[in-house]
Amino acid sequence: MTPGGTARVLRADQQPDWPDPDHLHRVAATLRSRRALVAQEEVDALRRRLAEAAAGRALLLQGGPCAEIFGAPARHETEQTMAMLGRMASTLSEGAELPVVAVGRVAGQYAKPRSRTTEQRHGTVLPAYRGDAVNGTGFSARERAADPDRLLRAYDESAAALRRLRSMAQWCYSSHEALLLDYENSLVRTDPDTRRTYASSGHMLWIGERTRHPDCAHVELAARVNNPFGVKVGPSATPDDLLDLITRINPERTPGKLTLITRLGADRIEDVLPALVDKVRLAEVPVLWVCDPMHGNTNVTETGTKTRSVADIVAEIRAFVGIHRQLGTHPGGLHLEMTAHAVTECLGGTEPVRAEDLGKNYTSACDPRLNAGQAADVASLAAEAWAH
Ligand code: PEP
Ligand code: MN
Repeated sequence: MTPGGTARVLRADQQPDWPDPDHLHRVAATLRSRRALVAQEEVDALRRRLAEAAAGRALLLQGGPCAEIFGAPARHETEQTMAMLGRMASTLSEGAELPVVAVGRVAGQYAKPRSRTTEQRHGTVLPAYRGDAVNGTGFSARERAADPDRLLRAYDESAAALRRLRSMAQWCYSSHEALLLDYENSLVRTDPDTRRTYASSGHMLWIGERTRHPDCAHVELAARVNNPFGVKVGPSATPDDLLDLITRINPERTPGKLTLITRLGADRIEDVLPALVDKVRLAEVPVLWVCDPMHGNTNVTETGTKTRSVADIVAEIRAFVGIHRQLGTHPGGLHLEMTAHAVTECLGGTEPVRAEDLGKNYTSACDPRLNAGQAADVASLAAEAWAH
């Protein structure tokens, strides 16, 4: 609070243009009256497991679609994807000889930051798709208008997805990008007995590459709650940026609180990662280092399709493990975009998807995901990398 008692206005990047402030305020009030989606005990349990990983005694395997979409068929796909994540965790665990904590990018991954605010097709310009919590994928003015009621639907969809996850034999924790401040802030809860504050929209949340400005409302949210939080780290991040973020998000140096998810690209990681790791290592703060080998390896084909190759993904993972081993830090896990469906979005794999196959079954609402075979390939090659 400023001396005048008004809340300081923090920078808030990547927020939708909500059309009607009163409508948004009504939705926020409804969300504030809703029950927590996740229990504080579950959040604390995950933070403790991530503390084990940060200490070198476990790994994190985080995975799921780039963007979840609303509806029962998508929830069914989520269940299959999470069963697959469980199998990949076993593969990785055997290779690395460490326990693996499985966390889905699911049950709340409904909001997307965008590099461009508009999309152009055949001469028509419309607002970009920002995730089902904001607008629709369909290319019409009606679909692309931001609708605050979608935040309520995101809550309901998350609740339904969490019920399904909890009924699975081996259930995973949930996670998503904490992007929409009106949604996330309305779901922050403080326990009246312990006075501890939690984001109740998911177990683990993360701040994306486009919203990690130190003075922004996303960083303030991460600092205010007891949930484990990730921060995506792209090649433009400097060692000092990371120290600044660490100090703001985890001033008490709580183990398991902060995960740095590097997404540097196979061609940049050797240049960029060592200096980042070195600086954080010397500061002696407990962080968990995780490799996202997806977002630094995105290419656009000549015909305008976004894709990634399994070869680049595996190369970044190998470099990540090698660099941490060399510096004496713990390569703490993986963050993947994947689905159990037989999509043709990423290139390569043992049953290879070729450039000419990309059009056959490309169903992602946003970024290209590994299909089931490619995800299994990545899991076993990662297990080998950790085994060496
Ligand atoms: C994502 O995880 O889908 C994403 C947008 O990542 P980043 O913030 O690293 O670009
Ligand atoms: Mn993505």
